[in-house]
Amino acid sequence: MSNTLKFKVPKEVSRVTEELEKADFEAYLVGGCVRDLLREKVPKDWDIATNAKPDEIVELFDDTFYNNEFGTVGVVNEQVEDESLKVIQVTPYRLESSYTDARHPDSVEFGNSLEVDLKRRDFTVNALAYSVSQGHLIDLYKGQDDIKDRILRAVGKSDERFEEDALRILRAIRLSAELSFSIERETEEAIKRTASTLEKISMERIRDELSRILMSKRPMEGLLSAQRLGVLKHFIPDLERGIGVNQNQAHKYDVYEHNLRTLQHAADKDWSLDLRLAALFHDISKPETRRRSEEKNDWTFHGHDVVGARLTRKILIGLKYSKKTVDAVVKLVRWHMFFSDPEKITLSAVRRIIGNVGEESIWFLMDLRVCDRVGTGRPKENPYRFRKYKSMVEEALRDPISVGMLKIDGNSLMKITNEKSGPKIGYTLHALLEEVLEDPTLNTKEYLEKQGKVLIVLPMAELKSLGEKGKVKKDTEEEKKVKEIRGRYWVQ
Ligand code: ATP
Ligand code: MG
Repeated sequence: MSNTLKFKVPKEVSRVTEELEKADFEAYLVGGCVRDLLREKVPKDWDIATNAKPDEIVELFDDTFYNNEFGTVGVVNEQVEDESLKVIQVTPYRLESSYTDARHPDSVEFGNSLEVDLKRRDFTVNALAYSVSQGHLIDLYKGQDDIKDRILRAVGKSDERFEEDALRILRAIRLSAELSFSIERETEEAIKRTASTLEKISMERIRDELSRILMSKRPMEGLLSAQRLGVLKHFIPDLERGIGVNQNQAHKYDVYEHNLRTLQHAADKDWSLDLRLAALFHDISKPETRRRSEEKNDWTFHGHDVVGARLTRKILIGLKYSKKTVDAVVKLVRWHMFFSDPEKITLSAVRRIIGNVGEESIWFLMDLRVCDRVGTGRPKENPYRFRKYKSMVEEALRDPISVGMLKIDGNSLMKITNEKSGPKIGYTLHALLEEVLEDPTLNTKEYLEKQGKVLIVLPMAELKSLGEKGKVKKDTEEEKKVKEIRGRYWVQ
């Protein structure tokens, strides 16, 4: 089946197909880029399939690199802004050779026709090819119909395809979450039957697909279908323990659904992978810490933050996330229960929390709390108590107004004036502070040294009153700053 279609293809891509065809080879766009062109989306990367062999491809272009494993040659475009156009992947037609371990083909054999190459691709929507020069589409598996119907369907016999390469199981779930496509019934059934073969896939590859599921617009649906199809238990079994674990009266959802909804809100806000991981795992240890409180006549989960942080570390290390990611996520899980009652919270308590998670993570902790709340079923993202807490975080983080801001300190003032330590030095510094608060451009070493020498020889009474004025000015400026912060958060 083929039909005529004109796509706009960037010249960095078409120059590669043209060059191949000029040398009498075939060249087709294949895979995700054709799918994305048909969906009128911008492709993330461009893949070309050809009957040229790797060394023949390398010979045609100035700047290439060769990936031995799959025979793919990367053709480099110098000086392009667009990441997706920097390297165009050119891959010789491949045969599906046998996979005895559901992981790596026993050998990469090159096929000699486009048809065999398309046959080994995972889903019909990824098995389309497009000839740029002829402007026509080759669609052997009704991929266009499936794109229209938004369906992921395995090419050929689905059980066999998943057994050949179990990563396709996760690719199905990931593509479904990214594209908002549903997985066709027979393909789904095959996933259920073959899910355990996922055990053979390396954690790094599982992690990469998981990250893409999490970074998609619909991570909750992705993980729900992973669970429903019996796949989730092969990579994050601990999440499933939350299923049916009911919570206290403040919660509408069981622990499992709450974790997923918290994650989904992080995705709705377009927040980072670290935050999404923290959202997904923040209550992972509620099942094992749940106790019945007779006094409250309700469930409690004391210590789920501590136990959960430890478990999260174990899971993320197992999934081969970087140390940086592991540390950042674990910290958020560990401290997500911070106390935030606006009536009782003190600035020193806020400082302690900042000390615990670190300045670099404190705003992520605030975001996590927002997700946690929305994931509980309370839609208001920014209630008074959060705004109050955030304003206190800002208060705690800001540099206080003090003589410490001056570009001169007590010691150097003593040195240049030959004055011993005592009240005179303090008054002089505060007098200088007043001047600087009035006109910040005066805060230079030169000016302050010069003016310090002038002030220090004033009669004591005069110097004292200038110093006192400086202290009052400092206090009013402090107050103004705090007021400004609180005003921005609409809190008292
Ligand atoms: P995107 O680039 O948007 O992530 P994609 O479908 O292009 O999605 P790639 O990993 O770029 O994914 O792969 C390019 C193409 O290679 C796919 O469209 C598919 O045809 C084929 N492919 C990739 N991985 C597999 C696999 N494990 N089994 C079979 N075919 C695959
Ligand atoms: Mg791609």
